[in-house]
Amino acid sequence: MELAGTGVSPGIAVGRALVIEREAVAVFRLLLAPEQVEGEVQRLTRAVQASREQLQAIKDRLSREVGVPHAYIFDAQLLMLEDPLLWDKSVAVIREEHVNAEWALRGVSEQLHALFDEFTDAYLKERSTDLDDVLGRILLNLAGAPGAPSLSRLPGEVVLVASDLTPSEAAALQWDQVLALAIDAGSRTYHTALLARSLGIPAVVGLKDATLRIPPGALVVVDGTRGHVVVEPSQPALVEYRETQERDRVEEQRLQETRGLPCVTRDGARVALQANVEFPAEAATAVLYGATGIGLFRSEYLLGRTRAFPAEEQQIDVYRRLLEQMRPHPVTVRTWDVDAQDVLPGGPSSRNPALGERALRLLRRSPEPFRTQLRALLRAGLHGPLRVVFPFVAGVADLEAALELVEDVKAELRREGVAFAGDLPIGLNLEIPSAAWSADLLAPSVDFFSVGTNDLIQYLLAVDRVDPRVAGLYQPLHPAVLRTLQRIVEVAEREQLPLSLCGEMAAEPASALFLLGIGFRELSMSPSFIPRVKETLRGVRAEQARQVALSCLSLRTAAEVEERLRRELQEAARAAPVSEGERA
Ligand code: PEP
Ligand code: MG
Repeated sequence: MELAGTGVSPGIAVGRALVIEREAVAVFRLLLAPEQVEGEVQRLTRAVQASREQLQAIKDRLSREVGVPHAYIFDAQLLMLEDPLLWDKSVAVIREEHVNAEWALRGVSEQLHALFDEFTDAYLKERSTDLDDVLGRILLNLAGAPGAPSLSRLPGEVVLVASDLTPSEAAALQWDQVLALAIDAGSRTYHTALLARSLGIPAVVGLKDATLRIPPGALVVVDGTRGHVVVEPSQPALVEYRETQERDRVEEQRLQETRGLPCVTRDGARVALQANVEFPAEAATAVLYGATGIGLFRSEYLLGRTRAFPAEEQQIDVYRRLLEQMRPHPVTVRTWDVDAQDVLPGGPSSRNPALGERALRLLRRSPEPFRTQLRALLRAGLHGPLRVVFPFVAGVADLEAALELVEDVKAELRREGVAFAGDLPIGLNLEIPSAAWSADLLAPSVDFFSVGTNDLIQYLLAVDRVDPRVAGLYQPLHPAVLRTLQRIVEVAEREQLPLSLCGEMAAEPASALFLLGIGFRELSMSPSFIPRVKETLRGVRAEQARQVALSCLSLRTAAEVEERLRRELQEAARAAPVSEGERA
């Protein structure tokens, strides 16, 4: 069986599938060895027993405090715990299918929900909520007990098959045991995909129903270069994959050899290629791939699984270490791009988080985390070429509020007599169309622009960047995107403002050619893509790129643009290879 998705992190990996369904908590689907089955039944028995004791205690307390009549609501839940439809059935599934307790419960609960849905009686229908409550309790008791499967304690090297992985789950994941990722959700700019790229782990996303179709423990091949997943491949297919894997490795090594070479076009235009980084440890990978700086450090990954904002000193330490590892190159740190739940936990969540109260929009209600981060950044700026970039700015008012806070924090540090970098460059992420189209109004207040095309494209085209069903509509080369980018370059040139681009579009050779052509000279991307982009740009002339880009600006569709750029790259590749003496 072959599943098609979007390859987001190249390479091939072969391994056994570990399947996870994500609901309120990640639900692992494990295949047990025969000798583990009775232990698993015991684990479920203990979790059900713990749930029963907890419910009984709640019921007793309620009858003491508010009287017996109100306590009856817990009788329904206590009865459910005893119900053979839930209990016996789950044990039977564990014994017959050799799966873990969590997975057995999930399957049984789906059947029970289907049953509840058929009731016409409103009272009985409502018991569906009780069922969820009881199941949630058993799952929590299973998770809290020893032997529970967890993302930070994987059962050996696995191909992780999941419906979705949130950034906080990705932060908890034991990455050194992950051979590859196969994910139902997501498209090219899905954050977990970006992380896999940075870590060099093959990944295919947008698979839609891989978690349903890949049995736990199945042997799977994940081909992140070509965007597909093969389940239980035949022996000859496996041999072929091993050969392709070896060819990819040789090609990767060849590209790696460009690490020490400068990124200069045939006619001498120099382009800085930098790395987008989520975890401090990735700075080493960035250096390995020849990045000349970190163009985007997604600082919110420091919140990790616990979603706690690190203290000022702790942050200074992280930023200082990044600078040390990248020396003499610059490091650009983006301020918290978090959502309301991180800053004000327990509050209502947005129906549409991508357009909701996030990043600087939380500044007024909860300035503290931003203050602490700015203090840390201003102080860390003494240790090297650090830059700060504000995400998710829609216009002048947002920017002014953020800059006001910077001034406030500086004054505070001065009052305290704490040393800081007074001239720390502050920039702006152009990722909302309204900011892109008021770039001229924003320019006078900042030191640089950094274009975040991952979001800019999603907002310009009204295409959710993580929804695999509309992945085909997410078109970096759409005429509206090209024109917006050109407009930004014009403003930056007029205002003489340093300009970079840190969206994944920079990692595609054809798009990189266009970006060079309209005037970008600093591109930041997942580190593993740097060698290929460098090879592309070293093989073309900036003047040739300028002309192609100009012609692209009058084309009508993304497909036409892509075809035009690819043709140009093929012709450039056919031309005589550059001799090393030609430019160095
Ligand atoms: C972007 O939006 O282009 C960007 C670089 O940031 P992120 O992918 O983290 O939203
Ligand atoms: Mg963004």
